[in-house]
Amino acid sequence: MPVDRNRITEQIIVIGAGASGLMAAARAAELGAPVLLLEKTERPGNKLRLSGGSGCNLTNAGDPEDFVAMYGSNGPFLYGAFRQFFRDDLLALLSRYGVETENRPDGRIFPASNRADDVVRALERHISEHGIRLISRTRVTAIQVARGRVVGVQTDAGEYPAAAVALAAGGATYPETGSTGDGYGLASSLGHTIVRLRPALVPLMVREAGFARSVQGVSLRHVRITSYRCSAREIDPSLVISRDYGRGIAGRKPPRPVIESRTGDMLMTHFGISGPITLLMSLAIVDASESGPVSISIDFFPGLDEGQLRRRLQGDFDRHGKRGIRHLLDGLVPHKMVDPLLQLTVIPTDRMGSQVTAEERDRLLSSLKSLRFNVQDPLPMAFAMVTAGGVSLDEIDPQTMASRLVKGLFFCGEVIDVDGGSGGYNLQAAFSTGYVAGEHASRTLVGKPK
Ligand SMILES: Cc1cc2nc3c(=O)[nH]c(=O)nc-3n(C[C@H](O)[C@H](O)[C@H](O)COP(=O)(O)OP(=O)(O)OC[C@H]3O[C@@H](n4cnc5c(N)ncnc54)[C@H](O)[C@@H]3O)c2cc1C
Repeated sequence: MPVDRNRITEQIIVIGAGASGLMAAARAAELGAPVLLLEKTERPGNKLRLSGGSGCNLTNAGDPEDFVAMYGSNGPFLYGAFRQFFRDDLLALLSRYGVETENRPDGRIFPASNRADDVVRALERHISEHGIRLISRTRVTAIQVARGRVVGVQTDAGEYPAAAVALAAGGATYPETGSTGDGYGLASSLGHTIVRLRPALVPLMVREAGFARSVQGVSLRHVRITSYRCSAREIDPSLVISRDYGRGIAGRKPPRPVIESRTGDMLMTHFGISGPITLLMSLAIVDASESGPVSISIDFFPGLDEGQLRRRLQGDFDRHGKRGIRHLLDGLVPHKMVDPLLQLTVIPTDRMGSQVTAEERDRLLSSLKSLRFNVQDPLPMAFAMVTAGGVSLDEIDPQTMASRLVKGLFFCGEVIDVDGGSGGYNLQAAFSTGYVAGEHASRTLVGKPK
């Protein structure tokens, strides 16, 4: 029910004009609440503009069960928000402002224009239509509370009173966008528990830096990466992994010491590994590395078992015995990888196909089925796409996003202890929790004395 404007004496303040804050402000104002949106940078939506390679992967076409599974064990917390505002609501809202969307074959949904700027522009129009006051270049430094209830905020440019505050200050990654982790400090200063922050969807550095450098820029398509809770040397070669395990994949737990296993595309970089499946697997690797060494193995031929690949290699060597090994390998792995692989497997680069010994073939086979790296560290938080951890879910009502500790305080977006895989899940969570925080923040004003 819309708020009765005549009965409103105070305003709602939204801290942060990112995906969740824009949505929270718009929804509260749509219901009639006066809203002040405080943003510390020059303009709203900095991270949104970068998202999806500036194409903005808004959400995903997966069904609700699969969707929620992509947030791991904290996913069910989002059911309450998704019931109130989900994918179709988001797409309908954007369509009202002229942003049509397209579903990609892998389920990702983008604006048809593939321009994140169009999404930001639509949300800017949405907030301006509802008369929201946006003050930029203003950093909130404290949320003021009296007798257990929010009464305002302190900023670097003065104080503002408020009957309710939605904290939408984002995570701690890509700090140049304004998301420098302020939200965690603001929440913890009011007694909220902050679940340990970790980088998620983050590239990984490996100890075999020389090898990584020699193949940097190589993009590997449809390979299997398996991560292990042990060093690369300790991976048991008899443990064959031929199915996917990990967040969002239904079914059994992987056999020990496997952490996750996925097939897809990855990228070799000068420091280690990146690309879609690496990013998806990175948080589980980061968490596992807290308690010991972690390694990964790359299977270049997930569709062939060892016997089949051995026969294929031997067949190539027999059929093209007069061709050089480099030439023969060129058809099997990316060109830039040929020499580093031969060096790794100690096979002279001038070998002809017919000269390759059974031992050399089998060394090559092992590297093609299980090229191993010891994971050193993730890249620092600043380079992660998402922050895992945040305001503890035990202290937030999932139906309203209200703090269970402080009256009139609401949370939305990445500041909450929810993180999704890549595929549009993080933005959908930000939009949905933003909408719900705005909706219920506005309701705190209803019935207040004049
Ligand atoms: C490179 C990159 C690509 C991404 N691509 C995708 C994608 O395609 N799909 C997807 O689903 N997710 C993607 N994500 C993740 C997604 O963008 C974020 O999860 C989402 O933007 C979080 O929204 P938010 O509103 O919580 O925070 P943000 O969008 O980070 O907004 C927080 C806002 O709060 C402001 N702020 C912070 N502190 C204060 C303060 N003290 N006072 C006032 N204002 C403050 C900040 O300046 C910022 O504007 C990507 C992330 C990155 C880094």
